Amino acid sequence: MRAIVVGAGIAGLATAWWLREAGWETTVLEQRTERGGAARTEAATAGTLPGGYVIDFFGPGYDAVERMGLLDRVRAHDLALEGVQYRTPRGRPTARMGGEALLRLSGDRLVSLLRGDLELVLRASLGPEADVRHGVGPVRVDPGGDGVSVELTDGTVERADLLVGADGTHSRVRALVFGPEEDYRRYLGAHTAAFLFEDPEVARALGRELHMLEAPGVQAGLYRLSEATGATFLCHLAPDGALPADPRARLRQVYSGMGWHLPRVLETCPPRPFYDAVEQITVPAWSRPRVVLVGDACHAVSLMAGQGASMAVAAAEVLGRELAATGPSAERIGAALARYEERVKPVIEAKQAAGRRTARWFVPASAARLLVRRQALRLSSTRLAARVMRPFLTGPDTAGRPRV
Ligand SMILES: Cc1cc2nc3c(=O)[nH]c(=O)nc-3n(C[C@H](O)[C@H](O)[C@H](O)COP(=O)(O)OP(=O)(O)OC[C@H]3O[C@@H](n4cnc5c(N)ncnc54)[C@H](O)[C@@H]3O)c2cc1C
Repeated sequence: MRAIVVGAGIAGLATAWWLREAGWETTVLEQRTERGGAARTEAATAGTLPGGYVIDFFGPGYDAVERMGLLDRVRAHDLALEGVQYRTPRGRPTARMGGEALLRLSGDRLVSLLRGDLELVLRASLGPEADVRHGVGPVRVDPGGDGVSVELTDGTVERADLLVGADGTHSRVRALVFGPEEDYRRYLGAHTAAFLFEDPEVARALGRELHMLEAPGVQAGLYRLSEATGATFLCHLAPDGALPADPRARLRQVYSGMGWHLPRVLETCPPRPFYDAVEQITVPAWSRPRVVLVGDACHAVSLMAGQGASMAVAAAEVLGRELAATGPSAERIGAALARYEERVKPVIEAKQAAGRRTARWFVPASAARLLVRRQALRLSSTRLAARVMRPFLTGPDTAGRPRV
């Protein structure tokens, strides 16, 4: 049986891995043109890589990569952060959350790494012979009784038993088959941005901590990646939601009141950094005949819930395992897709609800709220507080085995 997977991100590559394990032939289509490590490193240094931000990877996805035999390779990219240091806009330290507290919050199973590095590990796990095509995506989808035809941007037409839309929050597969993004997005009131920078002096000053400069409605995180490079993680409230035409100019304007190393880092911001609205995606039914969605395309939890990558890998495993036990008929594939959704959706709904609950604490809008959060963070270094806070931060079932 054959599947076309759209998106060589975390969900798409993990889905291809599980489908190949189950004996499916897979073709992965990726709109990005860069290939392999060298191009990735270049792009990362220029700050243009979409994966150029750090993710905390824990929970069900962490367990899933362990079952894939990839945990050591993923852990090899761990930035081994020693904690989060919160600071005033001018850089004065306020509260600190130690690395041990972070580990406890994740049930002692956490790795912090570049999103692109997780993709690299997943891509390598498919082997060089895997059919992964870059610079191409779908323009038309035609599901029929005995298969699905997909017309591609290069003018060719591919036919398969199943089309998997793993193409992220702004999924083209979803738009083509399920309808426009407006029907499925829930905006959480903030914009986020990230880019990588090269500056040995700043990198050295950052040490092994994430530094968060915070002011009402605005926060800017800085990490060190290596001796010479660092990463930013920016998030600010944006009530009207409209994305700016010039994201770099918007960032320089929104963060102009902040000091410490930030102005120098913002000087190096590329013209098109990663910049997007913080949103959740809720799709009432994740599949149509011969087409299914996985990852952010159908269940983005948003960075406020903090486990999108983890859930993408975990959901890919469930999808792959359900499809392993099926035959090529539309009915049997449809039944497997229904079981996949039935198993994963309740977990996603709980995490999305947790993300919405914590949204106003993620970027506090007022000085009073910032103060409350600071106190909570100070408390979080105790074992009891970590236990109490974990469900609010991560949803109900991130420790131990996944229930998906
Ligand atoms: C700033 C930030 C911080 C985050 N922090 C965390 C964190 O700490 N922990 C965590 O678990 N998650 C985190 N997330 C969420 C996580 O990054 C996503 O949930 C995860 O990347 C989703 O994976 P995905 O494969 O579904 O989608 P994506 O990663 O978006 O991948 C989709 C892929 O599809 C490709 N594509 C898109 N359209 C097409 C097309 N038309 N044709 C072909 N290919 C296409 C894209 O180029 C991309 O490669 C964070 C997100 C952001 C923005």
